[in-house]
Amino acid sequence: MYLFIPETVYFEPEALDYPLGAKLYEYFFKKDIPIYKTTSHNRVTGIKGDSEVEKYLHSKRTLVVGVKKTMKLEPCRPSADYSFSLTTGCPAHCEYCYLQTTMGKRPYIRIYVNLDQILGTIQKYIQKNFPQKTTFEAASSSDPIAVEHFTGSIAKTIEFFANQQQGRLRIVTKFDNIDSLTKINHQGHTRFRFSINSNYVIKNFEHSTPSIEQRIQAAKKIAQAEYPLGFIIAPIMIYDGWEQEYTNMFNQLKHNIDFYSKDNLTFELIQHRYTQSAKRIILERFPKTKLEMDDQSRSKKWGKYGKYKYVYPADKSDDIKQYISILIKERFPNSIIEYFT
Ligand code: SF4
Repeated sequence: MYLFIPETVYFEPEALDYPLGAKLYEYFFKKDIPIYKTTSHNRVTGIKGDSEVEKYLHSKRTLVVGVKKTMKLEPCRPSADYSFSLTTGCPAHCEYCYLQTTMGKRPYIRIYVNLDQILGTIQKYIQKNFPQKTTFEAASSSDPIAVEHFTGSIAKTIEFFANQQQGRLRIVTKFDNIDSLTKINHQGHTRFRFSINSNYVIKNFEHSTPSIEQRIQAAKKIAQAEYPLGFIIAPIMIYDGWEQEYTNMFNQLKHNIDFYSKDNLTFELIQHRYTQSAKRIILERFPKTKLEMDDQSRSKKWGKYGKYKYVYPADKSDDIKQYISILIKERFPNSIIEYFT
């Protein structure tokens, strides 16, 4: 199991007033990791590196511990009603990741220590929508499991949702750092999804992430702990041999998860897409990328953020949807495919 440890940590001063802030300070101090104070995460300076690429890489190993100020939650369709953040940023280096464009030039990882306030906000949203159920996505701007070994924030959030009659938590991760979550009394209120992909995609584009075997073994532990379970297959790519590789992946999944009967498995399917700004940044940071981003062989689709997304043309997109759906239904007939996009 790979456990991320930052090379540098910055603390916003008020972070130390919170128990989690104090705990993190002691943790990194004992590990001899350089600690600096910063008046605000916007003022973090001194990230190492001579080139933009080096600065990007060092940013991914830099942590800023602070207090979440904005308490307004954003809608998060199609995955959930709202998203919230315990962290932003991620230590992994997936070439296609949406964080390449949303995190700016220095995508350091932020951890928010005012957990009680964040959970209090969620409680208000649940009450407002009562008696309907409200779902919340915890991983829309980060992979919070990547830092769970020192924050413990996801464990506390799962416990919080266990007591919410009409609140449901959704988490997605590529990380296998989940042992601390298997003993929690979750009451079935948290749906854990693992983001999985073919060997080709993981090897070429998902740097510093666990292998498919490690992710499936982690999913198996979550299944044994009787959490509602799901998988996100994203981004699905077409390349030489893609059908066989995705078949192998689903065979491997069936072999390990077949015993799971607690709840209907869910699958979310997302084809590869990019925007022009993402393409420009990806080519700067990964000049030798094998990501296929030929505009001529894609269709343009208007996105909700006012930018065109370049998706596969309709015939190829239909091929992906049909092929992957059959693989799923043949192996997991009771599962639910929540969406394909
Ligand atoms: Fe982005 Fe997820 Fe990869 Fe992290 S693991 S870089 S959040 S795609």
